[in-house]
Amino acid sequence: MQKRTGTCRCGQLKVVCEGEPVRVSVCHCLECQKRSGSAFATQARWPDARVSLTGRARSWERVADSGHKATYQFCPDCGSTVAYVIEGWPGVIAVPVGAFADPHFPPPKFSVYEHRKHAWVTVLGDDVRHSSTPSTAREPGAGIGKSPA
Ligand SMILES: [Zn+2]
Ligand SMILES: [Zn+2]
Repeated sequence: MQKRTGTCRCGQLKVVCEGEPVRVSVCHCLECQKRSGSAFATQARWPDARVSLTGRARSWERVADSGHKATYQFCPDCGSTVAYVIEGWPGVIAVPVGAFADPHFPPPKFSVYEHRKHAWVTVLGDDVRHSSTPSTAREPGAGIGKSPA
């Protein structure tokens, strides 16, 4: 089974993900912009059992637009977030794709919160599902779960 290792910037906090991600998405929401420090965020999700975190992590929580609590695991030394969970997505862990620093990582199939998208950003691909609103992203067929991002 394929194993991918992501790390924080200083490298002490590692996340190992086994097998292919069950969902890869881009989120344009303002919180993801803040989290990533970029104009949009890309994240991949795996079932809990296929993700392991090693190293020292701190966590921070916020309540998402959905009303669900989101918990972020980040390196206390360099600040990179390497994993997060959202209550609305039980059993699944999200990892920011940038943690893998792998230009060949599988491309996103979902682009959500596009009403917050910077005008110069376009997510390419014939099979990408574009959602202008969070509610559209929660419709059946939006991936493994029923929450955006
Ligand atoms: Zn670090
Ligand atoms: Zn988001």
